[in-house]
Amino acid sequence: IYIGHEPLPRKNAKGLELTDERDSDPLLAYVEKNAGKTYKGASIINGVQQGGDTEVRSPATGELVGETGNASKEQIDLALKAANSAQVTWDRRGGEARAAILDAVADLYEAHTDELIALVSREAGRILNDGISEVREAVDFCRYYANLARQHFAKPIELPGPTGEANQLSLHGRGVFVAISPWNFPLAIFTGQVAAALAAGNAVIAKPAEQTPLIAARAVELMHKAGIPTDVLHLLTGEGAAVGKPLLDDLRVSGVAFTGSTETAKVINMQLAARDGQIVPLIAETGGQNVMIVDSTALPEQVVDDVINSAFLSAGQRCSALRILCVQEEIADNLLKMLEGACQELVVGDPAKLATDIGPVIDSDAQQMLFRHIDRMKREAKTVFALDGDKIPSQGTFVGPHVFEIADLNVLEREVFGPILHVVRFRAKDLESLIQRINDTGYGLTFGLHSRIEGRADAVFKRVKVGNCYVNRNMVGAVVGANPFGGQGLSGTGPKAGGPHYLFRFATEKTKTVNT
Ligand code: GLU
Repeated sequence: IYIGHEPLPRKNAKGLELTDERDSDPLLAYVEKNAGKTYKGASIINGVQQGGDTEVRSPATGELVGETGNASKEQIDLALKAANSAQVTWDRRGGEARAAILDAVADLYEAHTDELIALVSREAGRILNDGISEVREAVDFCRYYANLARQHFAKPIELPGPTGEANQLSLHGRGVFVAISPWNFPLAIFTGQVAAALAAGNAVIAKPAEQTPLIAARAVELMHKAGIPTDVLHLLTGEGAAVGKPLLDDLRVSGVAFTGSTETAKVINMQLAARDGQIVPLIAETGGQNVMIVDSTALPEQVVDDVINSAFLSAGQRCSALRILCVQEEIADNLLKMLEGACQELVVGDPAKLATDIGPVIDSDAQQMLFRHIDRMKREAKTVFALDGDKIPSQGTFVGPHVFEIADLNVLEREVFGPILHVVRFRAKDLESLIQRINDTGYGLTFGLHSRIEGRADAVFKRVKVGNCYVNRNMVGAVVGANPFGGQGLSGTGPKAGGPHYLFRFATEKTKTVNT
């Protein structure tokens, strides 16, 4: 069902032009020229950047990228006070005016593409290609939600009533929204949450992941420059316990958007439920135990390419990433051989080089957790491919790609957030029970199917309890407006980011009935 009047105009951001006609690539030139640049990335309250004394270093090189700090209790209170009093005016400006400012944010982001890609790469270790997609997605979110605001928040809907009665239904911001974003898409998801909450008429307090405050601070600076009032959008940096908790306990907060782990989403949900005096919505987008099923009719070359992208893009640090590849027994040996060959080609290393496929993982805690999992798999599973030891850079938090064959889905208790793929063989007659067991994991984010059997895609789609089902393609990189993204069950509450229904959960509805 599409809630709306007419299809939204869809125009996604341009990619980066890398053609032969250019003497030198401006992105690489930018990266080189600004290699040592440092950023300030502590809280921004009423447009004022607060001081910070905690170093932020690149996970790839250890170089200093900037400074951040933990928001104090006083700063949290100041941001809440300002946001709370600014929200009503912001809401009254209406959908059209807010949309114009979000379009200006998109334009300004595009004008700073090179800088944003470089900063994402240095602070989060994302490879340049990931950075390119990230800026595009952030720009798309701004323009897409601006259009939704124009469509649904600019004027009320007139509703029929008995003679002499005029009825209007209108959408408004709920109040102050807290947006808690992850480090794996430190610009795109950060921007998506903030832009949606703003478009719907809320004031926003953004709390980025503690690993990536600098890109968030730069994004907020650009948003303010584009015209988002400084009292409507504030940034609070720091750790979840120090900053997130007091925010969530505060009755001035009327809604929360969170992207991160399932465990944290549960904690936030309980904390919000325990507040007296208010029931507030939580929009949570969490992890997945994502499966791809490949049957004997699939095209092997295409499968290999799609598996490589789905499992290893962004070093596997996407909640949409492929974790378990289920291959029909008869084609498994051949496919695994081809997959092993393709893995040999993957380049692990410097995220600032265009040729790199896999950059570092976010920090040493993540690296150690992944190393422990790899050790366990080496003991308990069959190793199909492993890139480690002196084949990966010794400096920086690198983890090479790995492929392990496991006996069954339930060998994995939880999501493994990194470049590690697990393979399970299945027999054609067991397909139905396999799908049942995938549903039984309780997660429901992405799912892939490679099959050319007539009717199979529809039949499987009806059965799988997931948010995004991809057939005969890779299963990452949802495009705003084309592949609305988000899961169900342990994977999140919905609504889908980049989809036509997203803004409604950020809003409250009012009906005006006038008896004339
Ligand atoms: N939207 C991203 C994708 O489709 C994943 C977002 C996430 O990892 O949280 O790949």
